[in-house]
Amino acid sequence: MAMINCSESECNNRVSDQAVACPKCGCPVRTSEVDGLRFEYEKRQRRIQILYAELADRNHVQDSIDETMRRWPDNDDIRTSSLENQRIVMDRIFEIFSSIADAEREMAEIQKALDAKSR
Ligand SMILES: [Zn+2]
Repeated sequence: MAMINCSESECNNRVSDQAVACPKCGCPVRTSEVDGLRFEYEKRQRRIQILYAELADRNHVQDSIDETMRRWPDNDDIRTSSLENQRIVMDRIFEIFSSIADAEREMAEIQKALDAKSR
């Protein structure tokens, strides 16, 4: 039995070469290149699901900020802090969209590599 580096690029774990999968990240051990690519693809699919869930959550936060401003239209303190909170939420929403776009671009690249292997 030997310890090898996990084949997942972002995971620096050492894994037994007898193991089925890395205990830290779940990447299959002694994986074929195609299995490795599929794993990378699915990992990004899961990341996108999580990002969409966070996006929905941020949209709820935004709704409640809007509701607060509607309820106290003449309170300058509430208005100032609400606008600042809105800016923070918007920044995060832009980050989420850009992360989703990155993951989708990477998935298209991985898919291209998988298509090339199956030809
Ligand atoms: Zn790993």
